[in-house]
Amino acid sequence: QIIGLHRPTVAHVNLAAIRHNVEAELKRTKPGTEMFAVVKANGYGHGLIEAGQACLEAGATGLCVAILDEALTLRAAGITVPILVLGITQPQWAGLAAEQEISLTVGDLDWLTTALPLLEEAQAAPLKIHLGLDTGMGRIGFQEPAALKTAVDFLKDHEDAFIFEGIFTHFATADEQDTTYFNTQCQRWQAFMAVLPEKPRYVHVSNTATSLWHDACNGNMIRFGVGIYGLNPSGGSITAPYSLEPALSLTTQFAFVKHLAAGKSVSYGATYTAKEDEWVGTLPIGYADGYPRRMQGFHVLVDGQTCEIIGRVCMDQLMVRLPHKYPVDTRVTLIGQDGEQTITMQDVADYAGTIHYEIATTLGMRVPRVYE
Ligand code: PLP
Repeated sequence: QIIGLHRPTVAHVNLAAIRHNVEAELKRTKPGTEMFAVVKANGYGHGLIEAGQACLEAGATGLCVAILDEALTLRAAGITVPILVLGITQPQWAGLAAEQEISLTVGDLDWLTTALPLLEEAQAAPLKIHLGLDTGMGRIGFQEPAALKTAVDFLKDHEDAFIFEGIFTHFATADEQDTTYFNTQCQRWQAFMAVLPEKPRYVHVSNTATSLWHDACNGNMIRFGVGIYGLNPSGGSITAPYSLEPALSLTTQFAFVKHLAAGKSVSYGATYTAKEDEWVGTLPIGYADGYPRRMQGFHVLVDGQTCEIIGRVCMDQLMVRLPHKYPVDTRVTLIGQDGEQTITMQDVADYAGTIHYEIATTLGMRVPRVYE
C-alpha cells in the first residue's frame, strides 16, 4: 500500500467525535446492553485500529469485523477484547480463529461438521461461535428454527471443540420509516428464539438503525457501526435521538492555479468550456482516491465559499472554478466545514447517487488518515 505522505490531500479523523457518538449511544441503551463497535472495512475508512481503540475507550466492550484478517490485525495490535467476524470464514481457518480467541459466525450445520475434525486435529482451544439467523436479510444464516435447533444440539454435543457464545440476526429495513418488513423479521426472530433451550452469552440484533429507532426484540449487545462515525444510517430521512458528530473531513490544497481564457476547455472529453476568462484550481485528488468520477458539477469549499468542480474528475486530479486567484497552499475542503459552509459525506453520496457508507469505505488508502 502506498500512502500519499508527500501531497496535501488528507483525511482528518476526529477521535473525540467517535468517542462522543459511542458514549451518546451507550447512554441511551438499556442498562446491561453492551456495544460491539463495528470497525470492518478499515473502520468504515476511518482506520481499523484507531477507530476500534477510540470506541473501546468510550465504553464499547467488543469489536465486529467482516473478515478474519481484520480480526487478526486487531489482535496483532494488542487488542484483547472479544472480536466477532460477521461474515462466513472458511472452516479451514477455524483453528487459527480459536487460537487467537476470535469468534466466528456460523450459518449452517455443514460448516460445523466440516470444522469439527479440523479443530480436533489442531488441538486448539474451543472455538467461539455466533449462530447467524436469516430472518429476512437473505444473506447468510439459518432459515428455519428446526435447522437452528439441530446446530445448537450439535454444539452442545461437541463442547470440547465449540463454545456457543452468541446468536444474532440482521435487519434489512431498520433505517426505513415503514416498519412492516422489520416487524416480519422480528416475528421470525421470535420463532427462532422459541426453540432455543437456553440463551448464549450474547444475543444481538441491532445495527445502528435498529438501536436508534427500534426497541423491539432487542438483545443484550448491539453491533453499532455507521453511527460511530457520526453518520445517520437513514441518510437523514429519520432523525437521530442525539447529535451524531461526523468524524471525518477531507481536505487538500491546490496543486496548480491558473488563469483560463474564455473558450478554453477542461479535462477529458473537454466537457467544460470557459464562457469567460476565469481562475481555475487543480486539486491533487481523484477517483483513484475514492472521490467519485461522477462529482463533476458538485463543489468544494475554498475560503468559506463553494467552488464548482469543472470538467471530468480524473484519476488523481480534479479542477474547480475559483472566484479569483488563490495561493496554491490555500486549504480546500471536500468534506467538512469551512466558515459558514459545510459539505457532509451525505452531500457527496447524494450527488454521486450512492450512500455515505460507500463514500466512507472507498476513500482510498492513498489518502493518509490524520488523527486529531
Ligand atoms: N451487523 C452486521 C451483520 C452488519 O453487516 C453490519 C454492517 O453492515 C452492521 C452490523 C453495522 O451496521 P451499521 O453500520 O448500519 O450500524
